[in-house]
Amino acid sequence: DEVDNVESEDEKSPPLAGANVMNVILVAAECAPFVKTGGLGDVAGSLPKALARRGHRVMVVVPRYGNYGESKDVGIRRMYKVDGQDVEVTYFQTYIDGVDFVFIDSHMFRHLEQNIYGGNRVDILKRMVLFCKAAVEVPWYVPCGGVCYGDGNLVFIANDWHTALLPVYLKAYYRDHGLMQYTRSVLVIHNIAHQGRGPVDDFSKVDLPEHYIDLFKLDDPVGGEHFNIFAAGLKTADRVVTVSHGYAWELKTSEGGWGLHGIINEMDWKFRGIVNGIDNKDWNPELDIHLTSDGYTNYSLETLQTGKPQCKAALQKELGLPVREDVPLIGFIGRLDHQKGVDLIAEAIPWIVGQNAQLVMLGTGRPDLEQMLRQFENQHRENVRGWVGFSVKMAHRITAGSDILLMPSRFEPCGLNQLYAMNYGTVPVVHAVGGLRDTVQPFDPFQESGLGWTFDSADTNKLIHALGNCLLTYREYKKSWEGLQRRGMTQDLSWDNAAQHYEEVLVAAKFQW
Ligand code: ADP
Repeated sequence: DEVDNVESEDEKSPPLAGANVMNVILVAAECAPFVKTGGLGDVAGSLPKALARRGHRVMVVVPRYGNYGESKDVGIRRMYKVDGQDVEVTYFQTYIDGVDFVFIDSHMFRHLEQNIYGGNRVDILKRMVLFCKAAVEVPWYVPCGGVCYGDGNLVFIANDWHTALLPVYLKAYYRDHGLMQYTRSVLVIHNIAHQGRGPVDDFSKVDLPEHYIDLFKLDDPVGGEHFNIFAAGLKTADRVVTVSHGYAWELKTSEGGWGLHGIINEMDWKFRGIVNGIDNKDWNPELDIHLTSDGYTNYSLETLQTGKPQCKAALQKELGLPVREDVPLIGFIGRLDHQKGVDLIAEAIPWIVGQNAQLVMLGTGRPDLEQMLRQFENQHRENVRGWVGFSVKMAHRITAGSDILLMPSRFEPCGLNQLYAMNYGTVPVVHAVGGLRDTVQPFDPFQESGLGWTFDSADTNKLIHALGNCLLTYREYKKSWEGLQRRGMTQDLSWDNAAQHYEEVLVAAKFQW
C-alpha cells in the first residue's frame, strides 16, 4: 500500500506553490453556488479552488442556511455561548473540485435562505459571533477526508465585517494563551460600506476580555464613539487584502474609507490590493449551461459573429422585446442600491430610448428602486425591460445577449459583471472607480486599444457622453467594435493569477515579513 502511494504521488506534477504549500481555511458569510447575494459569494466559491489547484489544502467554511447538495453531517456537536445563551452547532461537510466545504449548522442560520442578512442589527451580530466562534475551531473538530486540519501551517482568510471577528477570536482565545502559534489570519475587504457598527454596548455581545474593547471603538465625526467590528478585524489580522488596486487607494482617502481610512493608512505595511479573477468554468460563453436551451447557444471567439447574435435574439425573444439585430442592446445587472448608480441610468433612459437602443435591467434591492425598474418597463415597453428578481440564469443570459454592459457605480471595490461581460464579448461602459478603473482600459480609436468606455464622475451627462461614443462605434465602426470584443475575450481573467498573489500574502503572513 505504502509503495503504491509513493508511486502515485510521484506521478502527480509538483504543486505550483512548491515549498509554500499551506492549509488554508476561507471563512465567509456566503459562497456560490450554495448561497450568494453578490461578489463575495463568487469570490468565496472560486478563489479556494484556484488555491487548491496550486497545491494547498483548502477548506471553505460557510453557515448552513439551507440544504447544500451532497454534504453530510460529520456527527460532531459543539456548544457555543452567544449573548449568554448556549447554542448548539453541528457541521456538514463535502469535497468538491479539490476543496473541503464545511457548513456550520445551527437554528440561528436555518430559514434564512432567502434573506441571509435579514433581521435587526443585534440578530445579525449574534449570528456572526456564533459563526466566527465555531469557524475558528473547525480545524480542531471537523475531520476532512478523515483528518482534521489542525493548526500547523494554517492560514484563515476572513471576508468583510461578517467574519472580521475571526482574527480577533484567534488572538483572544488562542494566541494570547500560547496556542495556535503557527496560525495566521488574512482579512479581505470586499466592501467597506458595511462595517458591523453599533453602540459601544455591543461589546458585551462579542464575548471578549475587557481590554479588547479599544480595538472596537471608533470616533464618530460628530463626536462620541461607536463600536465597529471591521475596525477590530483590520487591526488584528496579520494581513489585509482588498479586491482591486483602485479600491486599495480609495480606502485610504476620507471619502472612500468610510471612517476606517485612518486605520487603513496606519496598517499600510500589511495591506495590498489584488484584483478578483473569474470562474472560467461558470462564466465562459463556450461552457455556460444557461446558454444551452431556449434558443441561446454557446459560443467562442471563433463563433462570436454567429453565436452572440443568436443569444441576443434569444434574449430579445425571451423578454418580449422586438427581435432586431441592428438595435444595440444595453444590459445592467446588480443590486439595486445607491452604490450601483441605478438612478443615473434612470435619468438617462429618455435619452437611451431616443437613441433607438434597448435596455435590459436585472436586479433586486431597495423597494423604491425595484418599483422604478417596473415603471421604466411600463413607460417604454418597446425598448426597456426591468426584471426585478435574483436570477443567476438571467444574469448569464443578459451577459451573453447584450452588446453593452452599463456599470455607473458610485463606488465599486472590484466589480465582477464587467469582467464577465468582457469574457462574453460584451463591451463595458463604466464609471472609472475602484476595480472598474483597474479592469476597463478606455478605448483609444487611434491606437485601436482598450476594452470599453469610462467616465470620470458619477454624473448622468458623463454617462450619456460615454454611452454615446460607444453607440456610435457600435453602429459605424464595426471593425473597431470587433476589436474591442476580441481584446475583451482574449484577456486572462482567470483566478490563477490572483491566487498566486494571494499565496504571496499568505506566505508573507506566515513568516511575518
Ligand atoms: P456586489 O458584490 O457589489 O454585489 P459584484 O459586481 O462584485 O457586485 O458582484 C455581483 C454578483 O452578483 C455578480 O455575480 C452578479 O452577476 C450577481 N448579481 C447581482 N444581482 C443579481 C441578480 N439580480 N440576479 C442574479 N445575479 C445577480
